[in-house]
Amino acid sequence: RLVLGIETSCDDTGVAVLDETGAILGESLYSQKEVHLRTGGIIPTVAQQLHRESIEVVVNEALVRSGVAPSQLSAVATTVKPGLALSLGIGLEFSKKFVREHNKPFIPIHHMEAHALTIRMLQSVPFPFLVLLVSGGHSILAVARGVDDFLLLGYTLDEAPGDALDKVARRLSLTKHPNCSTLSGGQAIELLARSGDRRKFPFRTPMGRIYDCCFSFAGLRSQITNSIMKKEAEEGIEQGMLLSCVNDIAAATQHTVAVHLAKRTHRAILFCKDNGLLSSEDPILVLSGGVASNQYIRNTLTVLTEKTGLRLLCPPPRFCTDNGVMIAWNGVERLREGKGILSPNEDVCYEPKAPLGVDISAKFTSCD
Ligand code: ATP
Ligand code: FE
Repeated sequence: RLVLGIETSCDDTGVAVLDETGAILGESLYSQKEVHLRTGGIIPTVAQQLHRESIEVVVNEALVRSGVAPSQLSAVATTVKPGLALSLGIGLEFSKKFVREHNKPFIPIHHMEAHALTIRMLQSVPFPFLVLLVSGGHSILAVARGVDDFLLLGYTLDEAPGDALDKVARRLSLTKHPNCSTLSGGQAIELLARSGDRRKFPFRTPMGRIYDCCFSFAGLRSQITNSIMKKEAEEGIEQGMLLSCVNDIAAATQHTVAVHLAKRTHRAILFCKDNGLLSSEDPILVLSGGVASNQYIRNTLTVLTEKTGLRLLCPPPRFCTDNGVMIAWNGVERLREGKGILSPNEDVCYEPKAPLGVDISAKFTSCD
């Protein structure tokens, strides 16, 4: 069985061909990151145009690299939710045409389900497991009980950690810093934080008095922005020109994000233990999504999982950020189980917003 996976939910055009064991036969990835770094954020119409220009080239490149002809494919899997409407539309439109032309089954993919399942391509990870997904658009704690069966324990109430890191990086003009010009906001903060002292900026951990598994990063970002403004005023310099304590701010930002993630995850672990939601012999926490590339966050969660007796599993960075491989893998998993496979002419719409699984986050409001 061979699956073609197509990802265009945000700013990466990613395509891959996988066999049913998860072997990557061919892959191609066009990142728009540098364009969006220059404009200071993703402009949806620009992202759409870049996807439109590259989709056919990227698909052909992945197919040629794999040596697989369209006629040999078992199915095409494409991200249809959640994401930027204009970006999702390009991948879906292309895929619909492709499956009709080659008469192939179509598997619509939930982008966050794909982030959650990627680890199963790399090693054997049986269901159920707890998963923390942290990325540019999401912050999710869920129990993965099956390929299309998730229990949603918590999510962000405002912005996502990756988005917050990108905005802080932009406020500090980090692309102008040495070695940071081509890095995403999160990567730049991780790099600068290595030589910073987090204790110089003791930011408050969000939601200290709300005993659930949800997240919030908007208030933390205001705290950070206020500190930056204060420093700029003290030193009498223009906005975004701060140099002296940028590393310390980066370290404190990264630390506070890590602690917030760990505290909510700790509560989720206790809840899962109390309710027998994980394997009792080998309970597992999977960490994935672009922000999961961050080594400091990984280390913080390693401490937590060691303390609570869980095993932490995390895909390598290239599989944490968006790619076509994870979409193709999700297609392989769904094909194997016969879940959500459509005939070539069936109608499908993209959905910019789509929760992952059954939302049980309200169960936490009164318990600690
Ligand atoms: P979503 O998956 O929610 O739709 P997305 O697809 O845009 O969002 P990903 O590609 O999964 O997001 O992740 C991109 C985000 O990851 C960016 O916000 C980026 O700053 C962040 N990121 C990448 N590397 C790191 C790192 N080393 N440390 C922290 N954040 C990082
Ligand atoms: Fe993503």
